Amino acid sequence: MPELPEVEAVRRRLAPVLTLTRIADVDVRRPDLRLPFPRRFRARLVGQTVLTLTRRAKYLLAALSSRETLIVHLGMSGSFRVDAPHDVAADLDRHDHVVFRLASGAAVTFNDPRRFGLMTLLTPAQLARHPVLSRLGPEPLSPDFDAAALARACRGRKTALKVALLDQRVVAGIGNIYASEALHLARLSPFRRASTIATASGAPREGAERLADAIKRVLTTAIDRAEGAYRSSRFRVYDREGERCLRRGCGGIIKRRTQAGRSTFYCPVCQR
Ligand SMILES: [Zn+2]
Repeated sequence: MPELPEVEAVRRRLAPVLTLTRIADVDVRRPDLRLPFPRRFRARLVGQTVLTLTRRAKYLLAALSSRETLIVHLGMSGSFRVDAPHDVAADLDRHDHVVFRLASGAAVTFNDPRRFGLMTLLTPAQLARHPVLSRLGPEPLSPDFDAAALARACRGRKTALKVALLDQRVVAGIGNIYASEALHLARLSPFRRASTIATASGAPREGAERLADAIKRVLTTAIDRAEGAYRSSRFRVYDREGERCLRRGCGGIIKRRTQAGRSTFYCPVCQR
């Protein structure tokens, strides 16, 4: 399942192909993905120019010259393929559900075997009151997200710190894997109360500084990895139950526990 780093890597790959390019045609090869495509989907896309391609949490947002925004979620198995103008495939895979044919001659194809993906078009008013997008907390890699913002969001919260990190209103797009990874890097127990990283007035304690920094670091590293900058796919704790903690001199053994229905991986020795 693509997490924020994989979605950001997709955005970076697609942005130069799509941005300031007119959509010449769209093949919509079935009526739905997880949900039906919106009414007149093709007609609302053809002839539009993509002004910007941005990301919020795990959603891609293509702002169109019509002022509508094309929203894409990759779901469990969605991916995009870019074919250069001289290389556009004549044969499509049976899971190639949408093909964007660009005025440049390039084609961008959405493939999704399990069809949990989502594509829709929103007007500015619909975007502003979207039940998910309008309620997201700060983007973890933006300047809006720092120790102060994290502490404010965790102030007075009695839930476990890891559960708070998965709350999209606290910080947008942190999934199960990177919550465990960031907590290990920050040496914080996933089970401590979220409120313990903030003072009673909501100011950041040292743990909030370490955690905000760790979130940015694990995501930045994972984006580099998703872009193929290096091959190591080793997580710090995720999926490493029973293996030795990678922190030098720790010697702990990674444990797994179910927390709010999800697996949490942690080192009981160095995470407090
Ligand atoms: Zn450890």
